[in-house]
Amino acid sequence: MKLRLLSLYPDQMNIYADRGNILFLQHRCEWRGIDFEVTRCGPGDRFDPEAFDLLYMGGGQDRDQKAVAGDLIETKQQSMRIAKESGAAILAVCGGYQLLGEYYELEGEAIAGLGLVDLRTVREPGPRLIGPVAIKVDLDGRDRVLAGFENHGGRTRLGAATPLGKVMHGFGNNGEDGFEGVREDNLIGTYLHGPLLPKNAWLADHLIATGLEHHHGERPDLEPLEDSLEQAAHEAALAAARAG
Ligand code: GLN
Repeated sequence: MKLRLLSLYPDQMNIYADRGNILFLQHRCEWRGIDFEVTRCGPGDRFDPEAFDLLYMGGGQDRDQKAVAGDLIETKQQSMRIAKESGAAILAVCGGYQLLGEYYELEGEAIAGLGLVDLRTVREPGPRLIGPVAIKVDLDGRDRVLAGFENHGGRTRLGAATPLGKVMHGFGNNGEDGFEGVREDNLIGTYLHGPLLPKNAWLADHLIATGLEHHHGERPDLEPLEDSLEQAAHEAALAAARAG
């Protein structure tokens, strides 16, 4: 089996080392004997939507988002739509998450997003939403907890889209409605960044299984791994979120 990952703007959208999430996916595939292939897709690059099973875009500062947003629409929007509709797994984090929506508005300017999901982000007055966060997620028919860290000025509000989870501790999409992230088809957007996947190995495995199903037409039963370090990382992140 083989998982084909497309890394969108790995140099521009990589705040807090979001790229480490890709290494984590790679190791979990290799430990199970699954081939893993990463293709970088930067400014000006187009991609074949049928050639990838998991698309990843990390976080970025406002200026990084401004730098890539035009290119994202011009060279990648069509392929992103096709990939989403075909059931490819998509994970977008923080600044990348914001760009999945209609726009990110700040200082009177609206940066147009991909319009892949029904959400909008506005840099409203008020402090940045920073700190440890934990959310409750219902995925694969199970109740799960996602624990991590958020740092964003933008407040995201969902239209008809489904939130990824409910905030247990922290701010989430906007600090008001109690929702975090978005989920639609096999797309996931979230504000939890940095080592999101190492702290939540179950989400890494969910993405791997979804990607393999996209490629091979059948959802595999992934072999369990020795996850004591990952479990400890998850518990530490959750304890930090509980402590506020
Ligand atoms: N620039 C965005 C904001 O502050 C996203 C930041 C990020 O990716 N950490 O809202």
